[in-house]
Amino acid sequence: MTNKKILLCLAHMSGNEQRFIAEAFAGNWVVPLGPDVDAFEQELGTFLSDGDPALSGIRVAAVSSGTAAIHLGLILLGVTKGDEVICQSFTFSASANPVTYQGATPVFVDSEPETWNMDPTLLDRAISDRVTKTGRTPRAIIVVHLYGMPAKMDEINAVAQKWGIPVLEDAAEALGSTYRGRRCGTLGHFGALSFNGNKMITTSGGGALVCPDEKSQRRAIFFATQARESFPYYHHLHVGYNYRLSNISAAIGRGQMTILEDHIAHHRALAALYAELLADVDGIDYHGNPSPETDSNFWLSTITVDPAVTGLTADRLRLHFEGLGIETRLLWKPMHMQPVFASCPAYTNGVSTHLFERGLCLPSGPWVTTDDVRMIVSEIKRLIS
Ligand SMILES: *Cc1c(COP(=O)(O)O)cnc(C)c1O
Repeated sequence: MTNKKILLCLAHMSGNEQRFIAEAFAGNWVVPLGPDVDAFEQELGTFLSDGDPALSGIRVAAVSSGTAAIHLGLILLGVTKGDEVICQSFTFSASANPVTYQGATPVFVDSEPETWNMDPTLLDRAISDRVTKTGRTPRAIIVVHLYGMPAKMDEINAVAQKWGIPVLEDAAEALGSTYRGRRCGTLGHFGALSFNGNKMITTSGGGALVCPDEKSQRRAIFFATQARESFPYYHHLHVGYNYRLSNISAAIGRGQMTILEDHIAHHRALAALYAELLADVDGIDYHGNPSPETDSNFWLSTITVDPAVTGLTADRLRLHFEGLGIETRLLWKPMHMQPVFASCPAYTNGVSTHLFERGLCLPSGPWVTTDDVRMIVSEIKRLIS
């Protein structure tokens, strides 16, 4: 056993970041706009559309966080005070918080057991019930690709279309994941990405809103830069926000883009190894791609632990690893179980609660080696026996 600390997903630099930052400094582009912001947006757009002519129109607006991107997406979808917005319950609170910034109410919908993301059948039932109860259709649907695993987007989009509700994809954890060959973030009306310190790539802090066209990208940037109208003096018709990404952060992002594909390949290789080594362990289920339609980036590798079979709880495992200097984490606690959202309507089926009770995230980032994975799995096996 080594004393090396193993973290879930630690930031990892390519070495090119310093060069981009140096160029930004040389040009005195130390402001929340500039050539690196523009280039980073273009590089992200090229990556996301991935040569698909149907996606050549998408445009990206770089902002200060994934949370800001979700907020801007809701603003552009016209979410206002008194509206209801459907949100996946099994997620990080940043998916739901921006709904409340708009004075709207999140309505939580539980997951299906295959991808762990929003259950399309329950979504349909929830919308129908909201229409009956309130006489109004929810204004938007926020679907999340949790841990990088794509949600069942065709089914979700079909339900959304049936009711005429736009979909905002929270792809904060899913940069590089694909659903039926299309990259996450391009599967709804808007997509939100995060470049926080522990995501697939980092700008130290940052995010992006993926927009369907240049017009909506301009609108997003307008709201992200204080909603200033084009007058020679400061003139405002709308409340704006200071959400634009710093050019220095974008320079880091451009360096990170040079190793994005390597990062994704590394996360996927670790995932394949975890899955292989855990395949014969009774009571531990590795959360792999449930069908050929989904190709997760495996931002985090996740398992569920059956205490009746293993004699262990997920938290017992977590504490054991903590003692070894290895960071693991329980799965997200669903939003419908959060005290802060206790008064919000919720449509549940027990899936996310069950996952929260049994699930664990395993170290998966660029600093984690295949030897680390072997050691982690043998510790799990040792503890069970
Ligand atoms: C990280 C994350 C966000 C928020 O992104 P920030 O850049 O940290 O604001 C939103 N949703 C999910 C699912 C996330 O994991």
